[in-house]
Amino acid sequence: MPRENNFSLTIGETSIKSGATTVQTTFKCNEIGCSKKYNCYAKLKSHKVTHTNDKPFTCNVPGCNKRFKRSGELIKHQLDHLN
Ligand SMILES: [Zn+2]
Ligand SMILES: [Zn+2]
Repeated sequence: MPRENNFSLTIGETSIKSGATTVQTTFKCNEIGCSKKYNCYAKLKSHKVTHTNDKPFTCNVPGCNKRFKRSGELIKHQLDHLN
C-alpha cells in the first residue's frame, strides 16, 4: 500500500488508531493564531486561501469569519459581538 504523504504542504498531525481499521488523518492549519483542523486536504487548502490575502486577522466568532488588516480593527469589531 503506497503512502500518500507527498503533499507539498505540511500535514499537521496524523493519528492512527491502533487496533481499528480507520485511519484518520488530520490536516491542521499551521498559520500563527489559527487552530483550524480538517479531515480533508481540499478543505484545508480552501481554508488556507483566507490567509493568503491582505487581511490576516480573522474574527473567531462562530458564523462571522470577518477579516481585518489590523489586529486593532479586529478587536474593535469583536467588541460589537459583546453588545
Ligand atoms: Zn488557518
Ligand atoms: Zn465577528
